[in-house]
Amino acid sequence: MDKKQKIVVIGAGPVGSLAALYAASRGDDVEIYELRGDLRDPSTTPLNFTKSINLALSERGINAMRHAGQPKLIDHVMGATIPMRGRMIHGKRANGGLYEEGQDYDAHGRNILAIDRGGLNKRLLDILEEMPNVTVFFNHKLTGADFRRNKAWFEVRENGTASQLRASEIEVDFDLMIGADGAHSAVRYHMMKYARMDYEQVYIDTMWCEFHIQPKPVAADASLQSKFLISPNHLHIWPGKEFMFIAIPSDDGSFTCTLFAPASLYAHLESDPTGSLVPPFFDAHFPGVTALIPPPDLIASFHRNPHLPLISIKCSPHHHNASVVIVGDAAHAMVPFYGQGMNAGLEDVRILFDILDKHARLDELSAAPDRAASRARALAEYTAVRIPDAHAINDLALQNYVEMRASVLSPAYRFRKWLEEA
Ligand code: FAD
Repeated sequence: MDKKQKIVVIGAGPVGSLAALYAASRGDDVEIYELRGDLRDPSTTPLNFTKSINLALSERGINAMRHAGQPKLIDHVMGATIPMRGRMIHGKRANGGLYEEGQDYDAHGRNILAIDRGGLNKRLLDILEEMPNVTVFFNHKLTGADFRRNKAWFEVRENGTASQLRASEIEVDFDLMIGADGAHSAVRYHMMKYARMDYEQVYIDTMWCEFHIQPKPVAADASLQSKFLISPNHLHIWPGKEFMFIAIPSDDGSFTCTLFAPASLYAHLESDPTGSLVPPFFDAHFPGVTALIPPPDLIASFHRNPHLPLISIKCSPHHHNASVVIVGDAAHAMVPFYGQGMNAGLEDVRILFDILDKHARLDELSAAPDRAASRARALAEYTAVRIPDAHAINDLALQNYVEMRASVLSPAYRFRKWLEEA
């Protein structure tokens, strides 16, 4: 019996790339279709992200990459990350002085890691391209799928720019489609026509915008540590009741920062086109930030970088028969306050392939192996196992916004902390 299957992965983000790696390392023929151009090409603008974004990578995501069986991937992850031992809360005392308060994440000193999302994605693509059974198709947009006949259609964008787009369409067959095409997933949309899917989508009243703290101007041969203006080993938080500002370290001495605030506040700050309202707002609510980001840079970032919404998505099931399964943001986009969106997506991949492997082994024992029937059982088990966890982490992510922007300062938090340390 030919055990080779054709796996088509939609989306070459971090989750789709890891899924392709898992599938390819099992010997299947893998094709990845990505809407955008190659993100390793400097002319490609990452979707929704201005430059690149730093993410918190936790054990959940690292473990999924460890199980991909690619030492080169883990070497990159460990070499290109900065450990963050806790959060650093910034505020102002009653007498006007600034303070910083470190709050460790773990009593045993374990860290989460700051990683450049684009760097991780590029490494995954580099490894995939070296594998003989993987083909990556950039500028290919999924436009249709038939999950009874296992056929998909793609618009081929021959010229990356929207204005000069010359598109043609191709048809592709597959045994299994893995949808990793993000929050606005086309795979999920087409799957809904076949599966009886429950679906819930919520936009919270918070927008986000990216800012940067530049490295300290030091001698070219200075150590990395000396380039950081604030502690590199913390996730920095300037809490506010209705909004917050955070900073995550990068491996060049800079910090990627994010302002989370209600849409009405963005509208207020935008009401003066010169941006003059932005620095006083930061001075009033995020003490010390204008000493780290000069006001002209704050204004420039506020104008240049998009003001983006935050969406939370739950759906069930995550698969249809033996044909299709959705993973990552396509299955459970969540608000970013728990730092687990990508981590949970990477974990989806590990759990999915554990279950597929288990059913493939059982299939081999049978007198008349049936790959499709075995895969259908595996995908049904995946949906049953994964959905309660996916929904739980979506809820935790929403709850953690309140924790990060307010509870880190509450008397109850301080009392708990005092008890822990006593
Ligand atoms: P995506 O990264 O969205 O990738 C989907 C890919 O599919 C894209 O490349 C897209 O071009 C492609 N695609 C879309 N439609 C099609 C189509 N029709 N055909 C072909 N291809 C298509 N997560 C963490 O774990 N830790 C954090 O600290 C963290 N911080 C965050 C901070 C912010 C401000 C935000 C917004 C998110 C954060 N996240 C974090 C979440 C994280 O960014 C996402 O969970 C992660 O990027 C999801 O990866 P993905 O591969 O599932 O989807």
